[in-house]
Amino acid sequence: MANCIFCEIVEKTKQTRIIHETDDVMAFHDLNPQAPVHILIIPKRHISKLAEINDADTELLGKLQQAAMKIAKELDLSDYRLVMNNGRKAGQTVDHLHYHLLGGRRLLWPPG
Ligand code: AMP
Ligand code: ZN
Repeated sequence: MANCIFCEIVEKTKQTRIIHETDDVMAFHDLNPQAPVHILIIPKRHISKLAEINDADTELLGKLQQAAMKIAKELDLSDYRLVMNNGRKAGQTVDHLHYHLLGGRRLLWPPG
């Protein structure tokens, strides 16, 4: 998708610190980390947000969550948070579906 920074990361026209990559999924360090570990996990295919997901994407969502779990294990994180913002009022600023994997410090709840 044109003008999508995460699609540019997938196409490797934009540089980033990639930590995990499969045929469908990519994960990289957030540019502006909110915790000692802050990784973004995205589908390579452009999907703007969770509300755009359809039944055929169920497996893909599972793969994103599996990637998060594997990355957490690799980083030796026992406690972490996996969060996805859907829409501006929920904090979404990049319109390419992504999970945030956060950890490495005590995380407050509720998030506010
Ligand atoms: P959200 O606010 O949920 O849409 O999250 C978007 C995240 O993308 C933010 O945490 C940004 O810091 C992060 N971000 C924006 N541009 C880049 C980039 N080029 N590389 C890595 N992370 C980015
Ligand atoms: Zn995109």
